[in-house]
Amino acid sequence: MPNPRRPIIAAVDPSDVAEWPESECEAVERCPVCGFGQRALLHAGLTDRIFRVAPGRWNMYRCGGCGAAYLAPRPDRATIGRAYSNYYTHCAQNVPTVRRIGAIRTLLHDWLNGYLNSRYGLARHPARAAGRLLIPLLPPLRAAADAECRHLARPPAGGGALLDVGCGNGRFLAVAREMGWRAEGIDFDEQAVRAARAEGLQVRHGGIELFDDVRERYDVITASHVIEHVHDPVDMLVRIHRLLKPGGRLWLETPNLASLGHRLYGPNWRGLEPPRHLVLFTPDSLRAALRKAGFSRISQELRGLVLYSIFAASEAIGRDEDVLTASRKGRPKMSDVLAEACEMLAPGQREFLTFRAVKEK
Ligand SMILES: [Zn+2]
Repeated sequence: MPNPRRPIIAAVDPSDVAEWPESECEAVERCPVCGFGQRALLHAGLTDRIFRVAPGRWNMYRCGGCGAAYLAPRPDRATIGRAYSNYYTHCAQNVPTVRRIGAIRTLLHDWLNGYLNSRYGLARHPARAAGRLLIPLLPPLRAAADAECRHLARPPAGGGALLDVGCGNGRFLAVAREMGWRAEGIDFDEQAVRAARAEGLQVRHGGIELFDDVRERYDVITASHVIEHVHDPVDMLVRIHRLLKPGGRLWLETPNLASLGHRLYGPNWRGLEPPRHLVLFTPDSLRAALRKAGFSRISQELRGLVLYSIFAASEAIGRDEDVLTASRKGRPKMSDVLAEACEMLAPGQREFLTFRAVKEK
């Protein structure tokens, strides 16, 4: 048996991959995060082995200045939509953190609901109130529950305004609404917008540019796995900063270039996702980008329980199998449990960068 943890070179014959038309690519001479020109080739000839909809082979460079990585060249703004022709956010399911099967999982599931109800004001059921005290004793579970609610505080008296950038089918908007936020979303995916509206959620079709004339409207803005998709990530952060009220908070999450998974799986790491992911951050480069956009009080949060699915997907990419259905059967390996523990203790190596930041008053 080959060791599945060793990076495996793609089984796809690169000559089978169609080209992305050169006229629809743009050159990237400088780092889109810090503007530095010096760089080193990190991965060559990456292909879309996740949704298998985007043609092209892509090179990724690591910036010699801030340490972020970026595709160069990359699809231009006018044609990038082609890489999303079979995207999934419109049909994403709300998978519970713990499935309610078997006696122990059922107990954990109901404790989690008890924790969410008391900590975030949700009304989940079935729930056991003891979860309020017991879940905090289980850090990975607590982290996963907190991340589901994006580490939000309760809304201020009279309600608070929240915007979710790249809200997909509105899964999180529904949670935020349940917490008492006046929640709105925007997304590029027309189908996702339709699905969210069908749930009675307030969602507009488009990007952050929809708010060009708006200032200081929101108490909280969240952006989950969005910043890695945009051509100018610092500009997006500046626009978010402008849209926040003084004292307003940003929550964002993005794959971590410095993660254990990237080290283990190299070009097969799930987080690379070419050519939809245009920029990938390290903890330091994300902090620098947030500061450049005007944010302060930047903190990293623990995400919890994502490592298994990222590792399983990365292994499927390495074996050239269907990534979207890849999941671990049975119990996680002991090595995964240890890796999860390592991620808790070493924030710099987590699979996702889960950050909060504040716009000072
Ligand atoms: Zn840079």
